[in-house]
Amino acid sequence: MENQELVKKLTSISGEERVLINELMSKHTSFKIGGPADIMAIPENTVQLEEMVKYFISMKTPYMIMGNGTNLLVSDKGIRGVVVKIYDNLESYSVNDDTLEFEAGMLISRASKIALANSLSGLEFAEGIPGTIGGAVTMNAGAYIGEMSMVVCETDYMGTDGSIIKVCGEEHCFSYRSSIIQKSRGIVLKTRLKLKKEDPVKIKTLMDDFNFKRRDKQPLEWPSAGSVFKRPAGHFVGKLIDDSGLRGFSIGGAQISDKHSGFIINRGNATCSEVLSLIEYIQNTVNQKYNIRLEPEIRIVGDFS
Ligand SMILES: Cc1cc2nc3c(=O)[nH]c(=O)nc-3n(C[C@H](O)[C@H](O)[C@H](O)COP(=O)(O)OP(=O)(O)OC[C@H]3O[C@@H](n4cnc5c(N)ncnc54)[C@H](O)[C@@H]3O)c2cc1C
Repeated sequence: MENQELVKKLTSISGEERVLINELMSKHTSFKIGGPADIMAIPENTVQLEEMVKYFISMKTPYMIMGNGTNLLVSDKGIRGVVVKIYDNLESYSVNDDTLEFEAGMLISRASKIALANSLSGLEFAEGIPGTIGGAVTMNAGAYIGEMSMVVCETDYMGTDGSIIKVCGEEHCFSYRSSIIQKSRGIVLKTRLKLKKEDPVKIKTLMDDFNFKRRDKQPLEWPSAGSVFKRPAGHFVGKLIDDSGLRGFSIGGAQISDKHSGFIINRGNATCSEVLSLIEYIQNTVNQKYNIRLEPEIRIVGDFS
């Protein structure tokens, strides 16, 4: 009954086709893992997103925001409450000299191509990262020589009380794969990036180089959620796992990639619990050998009751 009221309200905000019931999260995550979300809501624009979230806050309805699901490991039991999926909506952008403004649902790899088209440098590192701008700002995504903290100048996000907060520069409190928005459980609505005018040939060469390295080194042909662990200071995760003799090791359908040991891939029918067992096995083995505790970078979410 409670859920019926909720579905009715969400439908009145965004229309029936944007409210999915018992929606399998495995259909929405790059890992292709995850049981059903009670409800998935897919707002078409920021106005609908704000209205939904304000309703959840007023009704104390549990909810979770997702972008493109490329950094998520979702429980086999799924997610209780509402998952609000931002991708592939909220994608508008504008260009003002050396500043680009993006709504949260824009793919970061597309944003880097828009920067290239405007002869703007600074987002080359993002070519090939499969998430959204909202996910990338929240996670302070980065690769090779860059990360979001180096280009983001201003972000509008929604706080847990429904208010809209603007943060500039250092107020983002960016750190390794984290930000004030992640820590405060806010929702990125839009962000402005300050880039630098550059010769587009140079920009394109760098992007092609990063793309080549990615295709060469990462198991992009298999479902995954990218690098599983955060990089411990002074070490490379892949090397620690390799040197622990774990390259290619698997539990059920979850396998340490033999192309890049920092990735766990889904070989077919991997479950969340198999991936979690493999994560624990890696953590224990590396800890015993090197006295280093690997911390997950991927976000582990859902019902573990
Ligand atoms: C093959 C592959 C390669 C990858 N390479 C890299 C890489 O080089 N560097 C890197 O940093 N990451 C990498 N990733 C991980 C992932 O793409 C990034 O972390 C990305 O920023 C996640 O964006 P998303 O939209 O998919 O977020 P999701 O996976 O949907 O969500 C991730 C987290 O962000 C939150 N979130 C999402 N959108 C919002 C929003 N609008 N407001 C507030 N919170 C939000 C979610 O609640 C969740 O906690 C890779 C992943 C894959 C599969």
